[in-house]
Amino acid sequence: MCEFCTQHGEGKKWYLTMENYSKDLLDQNKRREYAAEFLNGFDKRAPKAIKQLDMVRRTPMMKLAKPVLTHMQKEDHYGQVVPMEDVEKIFEMVQGAVRLPCVCRRVTTGNMNARYCYGLTMDQQLMDSLDDSFSLETLTKTEALDSIRKLDKEGLVHSVWTFKTPFIGGLCNCDQDCMAYRITHARKDYPVMFRAEWIAIVSPDACNGCRLCMRQCQYGAIRYSSNNKKVVIDPTACYGCGVCRASCNKNAIELQPRELVKEAAGIW
Ligand code: SF4
Ligand code: SF4
Ligand code: SF4
Repeated sequence: MCEFCTQHGEGKKWYLTMENYSKDLLDQNKRREYAAEFLNGFDKRAPKAIKQLDMVRRTPMMKLAKPVLTHMQKEDHYGQVVPMEDVEKIFEMVQGAVRLPCVCRRVTTGNMNARYCYGLTMDQQLMDSLDDSFSLETLTKTEALDSIRKLDKEGLVHSVWTFKTPFIGGLCNCDQDCMAYRITHARKDYPVMFRAEWIAIVSPDACNGCRLCMRQCQYGAIRYSSNNKKVVIDPTACYGCGVCRASCNKNAIELQPRELVKEAAGIW
């Protein structure tokens, strides 16, 4: 299990711990103010922050800055990839969801209304403090889950996000336009999210080598062997999101607990 499970999970996965979605936590530590400030004006603030990061990452200072940035991120706003079955379990612990525009895509694509973010624990006070650009939609659990299942089929990777850890405020659905994807994975600046508690494995007996799953993987973790006419998943590259399964007509891919796969255990 990841370090958040140890610190905030009461012996189980931290994002399946009811306490981490509680109003008690939202009431503490100025979390509403933090969340509102984070979301409002993100599209103005983030490009400046990336410019500053670009200046530092080309210098030896980055080596020193990396652990500091990671620590700050873990305290304030950290994520973890979760597969669809864990999304279903998360929705057993919350009342419903508030869908809102994705703030990353505002920055990376200019689309101000790409509705891929789901607030899991927003109350009226927090909703009222967001600016008018957010045009919030309140969804029932069923509506939220149905829409997230569609995103899963499209290959969007689900992740949970803290607002002042360990309080979990949101569930995101991301592709390569996600700033967390870029900072953690593409640019490898510093980690802002953990990989999932899972790893995908292909059954060679079931795989027919069609390669449809390769298009679905955002992380380039699936490799094709023309010799075997099969794919294999690199456990050191797999994030455990599980979205490759939706593209496989042979049901050849399944998830296993990360801790049981020697090459992947401990890679977060
Ligand atoms: S983490 Fe994903 S869904 Fe959330 S704001 Fe960023 S791109 Fe959008
Ligand atoms: S989609 Fe399924 S059958 Fe096709 S290559 Fe991938 S694992 Fe094999
Ligand atoms: S191979 Fe791993 S990272 Fe790629 S889509 Fe499948 S579960 Fe996600």
